[in-house]
Amino acid sequence: MDRVENVGDDLSRKARIAVLGAGWAGLAAAMTLAESGMRVTVLEAARVVGGRARRVEHNGVALDNGLHILIGAYRETLRMVRQLGGSGERDPGLLRLPLDLHIPGKFRLRAARLPAPLHLAAGLLWAQGLSLGERVRAARCMGRLRSMRFRLSEDVSVAALLARLRESDTARRYLWEPLCVSALNTGPDEASAQVFLNVLRDSLHGRRADSDLLLPARDLSALFPEPAVRWLESAGNEVRTGCTVDALSAGAAGFAVRSSAGEEHFDQVICALPPFRVAQVLDPIPALHPTLATIEALRHAPIYSVYLQYARAARLPQSMLGFDGGFAQWAFDRGRLCGQDGLIGVVISARGRHQDIDQAALARSVQAELAAQFPALGAPHWTRVIAEKRGTFACTVGVSRPAQRTPVPGLYLAGDYTASDYPATLESAVRSGVACARMVLDSVG
Ligand SMILES: Cc1cc2nc3c(=O)[nH]c(=O)nc-3n(C[C@H](O)[C@H](O)[C@H](O)COP(=O)(O)OP(=O)(O)OC[C@H]3O[C@@H](n4cnc5c(N)ncnc54)[C@H](O)[C@@H]3O)c2cc1C
Repeated sequence: MDRVENVGDDLSRKARIAVLGAGWAGLAAAMTLAESGMRVTVLEAARVVGGRARRVEHNGVALDNGLHILIGAYRETLRMVRQLGGSGERDPGLLRLPLDLHIPGKFRLRAARLPAPLHLAAGLLWAQGLSLGERVRAARCMGRLRSMRFRLSEDVSVAALLARLRESDTARRYLWEPLCVSALNTGPDEASAQVFLNVLRDSLHGRRADSDLLLPARDLSALFPEPAVRWLESAGNEVRTGCTVDALSAGAAGFAVRSSAGEEHFDQVICALPPFRVAQVLDPIPALHPTLATIEALRHAPIYSVYLQYARAARLPQSMLGFDGGFAQWAFDRGRLCGQDGLIGVVISARGRHQDIDQAALARSVQAELAAQFPALGAPHWTRVIAEKRGTFACTVGVSRPAQRTPVPGLYLAGDYTASDYPATLESAVRSGVACARMVLDSVG
């Protein structure tokens, strides 16, 4: 992306703006501000940028803290990734695949090569693993959701919605429930049906390309956060890593940020910290206490990633495959995706039995589940479990999320947990960052 040459008026240039946190939300905010000619200082505690979507080194191999899936409907995220790509590629660093949910031997749903929404209707009618009656019922279920415009008069759980729609047990088990757990990181008994419908509306009922799956073909820090930092720095902004923010206070002359680098003053602040850090840092501002109470009331749900390094020749038949009945939910072939031959990553979202066993036992169980399906994989050379215990907030029925605009002028909240019709995802994080940046820009005229 070109350096911004048109740097706006003097007022914008002089405003001192801090972004706390260099996750996807904070960096999206910083980029949006910098694109408009504002000077930004980003303060990030970690050495590696990207927050909950970042690179983690293990044995000299670049893993991610969690295996991520993007979808074609992630408009803001894809816009930003493309802007930084520079190569003119449509999806730099991502492998775009038409929707294909495949649990070998049990279920397969593939988007048909037809315009939307026929791609999905035909996909459902041809789905493998469902009887003819179940396929027709699943297609009718989508039709009903469409006629409801994907809106509920009152939020209920995903399980209650599926019961109301009389969806078959098989379609629930292999299609709707795995989609719900992957998208909302919350089990169907608790998950918000309205948020689930918002995701279905944009992904399955949007344009055909909106239902595409986009799988990272490089580590997550290299996909967006690191190029964003390079671009910000080249445009004269400062991104300080290894700088932990301890407290923020507000006064007549703006904000004082106390961090491991000392105390600094800013005119406006976008707080893009994870929800479980926000209260600690913003506590000195009494006007925020009701907002902080809302944030503290959020419950969190884990996401585990299990990496297994097999011999280099080991391969899964597809880049991404589903599993049923054990711990493993989705497996990704990092050889096919990132050229990391023989490396398989397995994701386990939401709360569950996996939290009750130790990591070595979990890795052994996942290995056995992979071996049962694909005996040719052999034994792994090493395994590594990464447990993000507070992966995302639990997206439960009627969950209350704070607005990006706070009661304190000049202070904004960005992050996947802030108000959005999406669950905690890269897209909600990026959208919130962009929204905060636009509010700052509006305020300086
Ligand atoms: C394992 C896992 C798998 C996931 N899978 C998917 C997926 O497949 N698809 C999808 O769309 N989403 C997925 N998500 C969700 C997605 O990663 C998050 O929604 C998104 O990364 C949140 O970004 P954020 O910027 O809001 O917050 P964060 O990423 O948490 O960013 C906050 C930043 O603040 C920094 N920070 C914290 N404390 C301080 C401090 N005191 N001072 C300074 N800096 C501080 C942190 O280091 C971090 O960099 C997954 C999440 C996890 C954990």
